[in-house]
Amino acid sequence: MAGILFIISAPSGSGKSTLVAQLRSLVEGLEFSVSYTTRAPRGSEIDGREYHFTNRDTFEAMTGRGEFLEWAEVFGNYYGTALAALDHARKSGKDLLLDIDVQGAKQIMQRLPAAVSIFILPPSPQVLEMRLRQRSQAEHVTSAVVIERRLQQARSEIEQVWDYKYALVNDVLDQAVAELRAVVLHERGAGEDSSVTAESCRTASRSRRLCAALEMFQIPC
Ligand code: ADP
Ligand code: 5GP
Repeated sequence: MAGILFIISAPSGSGKSTLVAQLRSLVEGLEFSVSYTTRAPRGSEIDGREYHFTNRDTFEAMTGRGEFLEWAEVFGNYYGTALAALDHARKSGKDLLLDIDVQGAKQIMQRLPAAVSIFILPPSPQVLEMRLRQRSQAEHVTSAVVIERRLQQARSEIEQVWDYKYALVNDVLDQAVAELRAVVLHERGAGEDSSVTAESCRTASRSRRLCAALEMFQIPC
């Protein structure tokens, strides 16, 4: 039987990679799709682990051959999910987790409506800026321009939150991890204890936490 396809999107710096790494250590049977990208490796990233790093010619040849389930241009670089990742997860009977941007998520929601979509928000623009700066310092990258561009992009991405089934606010890390885990278990029908938490994370429930974060970005709830 086909597994569940989980899509996770978030503005860059929201803490998505941190959350996903913790989720993977807590939940079994979850495969992570390694995307293709034309951007250069960052910090300690390794080819084939965080991404398949490639060049524009190779990427464009792959799009021409229809090898992507979805792809998009983000911050001037191509990013794409290979169809092979979906096939591999299906064959191994695992659920598949995609960490993709809002444009790619939209393509998948149309192509595969059963996919479970999750949006992660930072609690405020100030916190997002702090996390972006913290990360660039940790990676010894001076990238004021990149940080500024990502902050501007964040608001327009967050406006897409209503297209997603679930919305989590990554304020206190442990709480956000627990919520993400609850959503996965709930969707698997595997955790009655998780249902209350998961239901409170439904975007449609417009929880107080969600509305408070949206307000900080001046987005109506
Ligand atoms: P993303 O994958 O969304 O771009 P990262 O996971 O790289 O973001 O996180 C950006 C920075 O924020 C990292 O330095 C990370 O350690 C930090 N971070 C993530 N989640 C939290 C949190 N809940 N509280 C404090 N710092 C966090
Ligand atoms: P980063 O360069 O910070 O790793 O990622 C930048 C953005 O690209 C993030 O929003 C991330 O989710 C998105 N992204 C990563 N892989 C893919 C992919 O395969 N497809 C799409 N559409 N977006 C991706």
